[in-house]
Amino acid sequence: MVSRVIPVDPFDLVIFGGTGDLARRKIIPGLFRRFLSGQLPADSRIIGAARSSMEPAEYKSLLEEAIKEFGGDEKSGADELAAFLNMIDYVAVDAVAGDGWDHLKSLMRDGVVRAFYFSVAPSLFGALADKLHEYAIATSESRIVVEKPFGHDLPTARALNAILAKHFDERQIYRIDHYLGKETVQNLMAIRFGNVLFEPLWNSHYVDHIQVTVAETVGVGGRGSYYDNSGAMRDMVQNHLMQLLCLIAMEPPNKFGADEVRDEKLKVIRALQPVDPHHIVRGQYDAGSEGPSYREDAENARSFTESFIAMKCHINNWRWAGVPFYLRTGKRLRSRSSEIAVVFKDLGHSIFEGDEARHRNILSIRLQPNEGIDLQMTIKEPGPGGMRLIDVPLDMTFADALGADVDDVPDAYERLIMDVIRGNQTLFMRGDEVEAAWEWTDPIIKGWEIRNDVPKLYEAGSAGPEDSMMLMHRDGRKWREIR
Ligand code: NAP
Repeated sequence: MVSRVIPVDPFDLVIFGGTGDLARRKIIPGLFRRFLSGQLPADSRIIGAARSSMEPAEYKSLLEEAIKEFGGDEKSGADELAAFLNMIDYVAVDAVAGDGWDHLKSLMRDGVVRAFYFSVAPSLFGALADKLHEYAIATSESRIVVEKPFGHDLPTARALNAILAKHFDERQIYRIDHYLGKETVQNLMAIRFGNVLFEPLWNSHYVDHIQVTVAETVGVGGRGSYYDNSGAMRDMVQNHLMQLLCLIAMEPPNKFGADEVRDEKLKVIRALQPVDPHHIVRGQYDAGSEGPSYREDAENARSFTESFIAMKCHINNWRWAGVPFYLRTGKRLRSRSSEIAVVFKDLGHSIFEGDEARHRNILSIRLQPNEGIDLQMTIKEPGPGGMRLIDVPLDMTFADALGADVDDVPDAYERLIMDVIRGNQTLFMRGDEVEAAWEWTDPIIKGWEIRNDVPKLYEAGSAGPEDSMMLMHRDGRKWREIR
């Protein structure tokens, strides 16, 4: 019922950083799953590229291991894996030296889609773009895919955009935010714009407030040095939470086209009010039963980097006047759960005698676990004894509603890579969006630096610092439970 697989056009996909963590954990296993689904034409090729010198056969064994470790598909057999590996090649190239580029050029074919995935440190983006141009490997129709982080602040994001713009048009640049590739996130648009029910209520007349929570149980161990230089604001809020906020708050685009959607998202970011510092809570996890402290994980005993943020934002426009958007994200929290909750206003008046409870409709869009949607509705409690009201969820867990086929739904990376090959930029961030997001976050971060802000400690395995609860309580509201 779910997957109607439409094969993409044949392609040559070069993965710079083809031996790296992201390629092994996400990109290659994802491509393998798309191959198994029948979406990749057999005459397509995937070319790994990195400095390490190795034979294509060696590279194929590396990828075979990666597919086994990071999930291909239990149902697949050796023949399918062999057929997939047949599409793979490897070239040793150095982004900052001349080695290997003639060889890469000689492998490129005409008449197929050319895509270049920059799965390397952002400091190499400029060198790669220059080399693709210098050796005439990229054509005016080629696409490049770039990973997060896209800049560290507004000046660095601008500089990166300028570097890429030297050789590539905006229509050729695919900036990945894998949250946009998540099925439920796209469903948010389907719910809003594919049903008549919600859009008339989607405004300050009916919505009390909106909560976005992205809670993780993992700490920063393993990527501590990167994270310590970044923090939750740069690592999560500026990109992922901001993108979710945009999809919730944007005006209906006139069609589901790349620029139409991105124009509307950009308007939301530009309408965000500067945040009052009293409306932000920064936290850092302390040691707890779940593991060591942030400082131990980050190997920085004096770190003031935040591993948790809770904040209240406002969007300055007609639709959302006075409606708070509460955003919250953190590491080493009680459970791994992400959801968007649209909390509707109370009834103005209850006709039911003795009904003291406050009944609210809440639309909750769960990103994980159990991707799905539920709508809290008020009904009569069954049985005799008068008209007593209770709140019940109208639950649509996708796995139940869509049956076993839900396992075949591509994960975020798979779907986004297929969109690159199809030339569909709708779920990728445009350069001006990224810059606008930094323009809003930079003053917040600068304020912390000027004030030497010290994050509040929270116990690992909890729901975050006490102050984040107060942020809600002060407004007479409460966070939805992190389950
Ligand atoms: P990684 O494991 O350190 O891999 C880096 C890759 O780049 C390796 O294949 C390395 O191979 C290659 N490389 C390094 N210097 C090079 C050069 N001068 N020329 C050509 N290739 C070079 O990094 P990663 O974790 O895969 O991350 C890659 C990118 O994705 C980064 O921008 C990161 O921020 C982003 N990202 C990663 C994740 C993740 O889960 N890993 C998630 C989100 C975003 P050689 O040393 O052999 O050259």
